[in-house]
Amino acid sequence: MKTWDVIVIGGGIIGLSLAIEVRKRGATVLVVERGEPGREASHAAGGMLVDSGAETPAALQELAIASARMYPEFAQELQVESGIFVDLREQGAIVFPPLEDARQQPAFKVESLPSASLAELEPALVHHERAAFFLKERSIDPRAITAAALETAKRRGVDVSSGEEVTAVNLSEGKVHGVTSRKTSYFAKKVVNCAGAWSGQIAPHQFPTRPVKGQMLCLIAPSRGTLTHVIRSPDVYLIPRSDGRILVGTTVEEAGFDKRTDVATIQRLHRAAITLIPELRNAKILEDWAGLRPGTPDSLPILGETSTAGYYVATGHFRDGILLAPITARIVAQVITGENCDYDLSAFSPTRFSIGSSEHH
Ligand SMILES: Cc1cc2nc3c(=O)[nH]c(=O)nc-3n(C[C@H](O)[C@H](O)[C@H](O)COP(=O)(O)OP(=O)(O)OC[C@H]3O[C@@H](n4cnc5c(N)ncnc54)[C@H](O)[C@@H]3O)c2cc1C
Repeated sequence: MKTWDVIVIGGGIIGLSLAIEVRKRGATVLVVERGEPGREASHAAGGMLVDSGAETPAALQELAIASARMYPEFAQELQVESGIFVDLREQGAIVFPPLEDARQQPAFKVESLPSASLAELEPALVHHERAAFFLKERSIDPRAITAAALETAKRRGVDVSSGEEVTAVNLSEGKVHGVTSRKTSYFAKKVVNCAGAWSGQIAPHQFPTRPVKGQMLCLIAPSRGTLTHVIRSPDVYLIPRSDGRILVGTTVEEAGFDKRTDVATIQRLHRAAITLIPELRNAKILEDWAGLRPGTPDSLPILGETSTAGYYVATGHFRDGILLAPITARIVAQVITGENCDYDLSAFSPTRFSIGSSEHH
């Protein structure tokens, strides 16, 4: 009977980067994925690596900043090991704050942008003399970095079983001894739940995660020079890729596990993009899609060991899972392998939600 040291449930960016970190520490690892690895939230994301956004909860700032610092090395390593180009872009973002707090700086680490320099930085952008800030942040192609993590994991000897939906973590005498999928059982003394928006569906049910839908579309820019920086405005954001694609997002919807897009929303996003960059009027829509962010009641991730010995979790990364992958992989690997953890994880403890509260129903 084959056994592993650690089983990771879920092959999104969180499960795959964690599998690599655990494997680097010498453990044998199996990733069990319901569908194809990297086809859920990690496939749907925009890939902005925002470590100081107004939406980042204060308790998460320290990890967000640390993860942003780790990104160049993380991306480089996965790109070199996998041979997959991950499109890490360093050009920064132009941020238009909401009109009501136009004079308030959206975060630290920003520079005000006079209209003249704005016109120089992004000639195609229409800004109507609005207050704008420059932020030194990066972006990445989430599909590419997830594919690179999958390839790297395999090359490093992580086993991956696709098309296997885990229904339960198996326990005996209060200790973990593996997982049951719809087809079979797998054996390990340590299991980590990285099932994203679906984390709460696996028995024993311990996590109040919920899906938060986001719709996006992808345009082909008329020319590669149409847009260089990420543009963040209150109604829309635009993320350029080096191959000339421009991603336009997004919505934040409580719509259950529904991943359909609707025409009205996609058109509204497209119009908002055209208002910022009129040249995009004739840009072709390559694709539209929706993904499910793993949300939690307090909008903080759930990280660490659960109340069941040997059962760990790394989920609930909501809007920041691409950014938070490197730091999550490092600290949860530290917890799983019994190393000293670099950070105090109490704010993210799986036991912070009282069992039986309404959030569990
Ligand atoms: C529209 C949109 C835009 C976003 N933009 C950004 C951004 O700009 N920057 C950023 O940092 N983040 C962004 N995010 C958030 C980011 O995508 C997520 O936080 C991140 O992808 C979560 O990764 P994950 O691995 O936890 O989840 P997922 O990628 O969803 O992976 C979970 C995996 O678990 C599998 N699974 C589920 N149940 C089971 C089961 N029972 N058995 C086996 N496998 C199972 C699923 O099939 C899936 O592959 C965005 C998200 C969306 C939807």
